[in-house]
Amino acid sequence: MDEQDCVVVGGGPGGAVLAYLLARAGRRVTLLEARSDFARRFRGDSLAPAVMDWLDALGLADDVLARPHATADAFTWHTPTAAYRVADFSRASARFPHYVLLPQPEFLGLLTGRAAEYPGFRLEMSARVTELVESDGRVCGVRYRAADGGTREVRAPLVVGVDGRFSQVRRLGGFETEELGAGLDILWFEVPRRAEDPPLSGLDYFAVPGAAIVALGQGATWQLGYVIPTGTVAQAREAGVGPVVALARDRMPWLGDRLDALTAFTDLTLLNVPITRLPSWYRPGLLLLGDAAHVISPVGGNGINIAIADAADAGNTLAPLLANRSSAAPAALDAACREIEARRRAVSDVEQRSQVRAERGSAGRIERGDPSPVWILRLAAAVPPIARAFGRRSASAIAIPPPTPAVLGAPAPR
Ligand SMILES: Cc1cc2nc3c(=O)[nH]c(=O)nc-3n(C[C@H](O)[C@H](O)[C@H](O)COP(=O)(O)OP(=O)(O)OC[C@H]3O[C@@H](n4cnc5c(N)ncnc54)[C@H](O)[C@@H]3O)c2cc1C
Repeated sequence: MDEQDCVVVGGGPGGAVLAYLLARAGRRVTLLEARSDFARRFRGDSLAPAVMDWLDALGLADDVLARPHATADAFTWHTPTAAYRVADFSRASARFPHYVLLPQPEFLGLLTGRAAEYPGFRLEMSARVTELVESDGRVCGVRYRAADGGTREVRAPLVVGVDGRFSQVRRLGGFETEELGAGLDILWFEVPRRAEDPPLSGLDYFAVPGAAIVALGQGATWQLGYVIPTGTVAQAREAGVGPVVALARDRMPWLGDRLDALTAFTDLTLLNVPITRLPSWYRPGLLLLGDAAHVISPVGGNGINIAIADAADAGNTLAPLLANRSSAAPAALDAACREIEARRRAVSDVEQRSQVRAERGSAGRIERGDPSPVWILRLAAAVPPIARAFGRRSASAIAIPPPTPAVLGAPAPR
């Protein structure tokens, strides 16, 4: 029987960070990832200034910066006649006054690579969890289909489901979900980025009457998202790729022939984001975190940051408890998981409410043909200290706790 201190299901940003922290703290942790690699496109790649500060405290920020990345020092809303710098990140951190845009596969490779320096860490790829193991009303492990097609079991006092917005662990655990309703879907595509391209803010939103496109500047590519009101994908499909290319050409004419490769609607990747809330994230022996616990929309670019901050909190709280094999351990774990849920729910609830407001507002403006930002964003752009306050707020809203001595005071890597 494979016995661990913790089983983490899902090798996305939340799962990779939690497994790293527990391994660094000296715990035995198995990270199970359903896919055979970390390759994934069009995911949250934007590491917030506060997350970069946190990575710095762990000694990982320089590893991030050593990989191909881009930075975004502001969020700018462009209309056909004006550009509004509505959030300015220049005061959000002393060392990192910007978001760092690092492709998610790079980030996951970095985290799991560093985690593998600790003897307690085990990563199994192509390992899809299919069942929870239960005993006396507690979850005490999982069964999964391994790469060779066989079924394996791994047991631990705590299973953490960080397996994303379609979480299988959530379903297996019988957790209820509640959709908050969203206003926007996004059709993503990417084109190569060239050194001579104009230096946008890095996070840019181009609105015209009746349509909008988001531009994220990444290392070698522009990730572009055509924004449509939720429920209109059938009309968008019927209209085809033409309106998407036309808007990109109109607002970013310097993309030139790079848009020629976009010829069919199937070249676009639909992201529809049902913002989802769960009445509970925990039952004895099982905790959900990241998108599995609260699906966040890409509005604000904080899905990855909130998943990382959930894991940071869980790592701090669980690392000392998971070493405890006494009879009081299950009750202490239950109490700790309830505390983690309460702290992190306070953050995700606020973020989700503001996303629902922002999405409905933006969808309404697209439908009304009004490309300008709401008055408060126009005010922020006109008064730079307000834009800086918005930049500080959006970066700090994820409330990432600093690493505790239990996590930092780790045994030396093997
Ligand atoms: C197409 C797309 C575009 C996005 N764009 C943005 C964006 O622009 N900005 C932003 O901030 N956020 C964006 N997001 C959201 C962001 O990627 C997520 O919020 C973030 O990755 C959440 O991290 P996580 O660790 O909770 O889950 P995920 O990153 O979803 O990771 C979950 C992992 O669990 C694995 N898994 C699933 N089921 C099982 C199983 N049964 N057994 C084992 N492993 C399993 C999956 O393969 C995956 O690797 C986007 C998401 C998608 C899908």
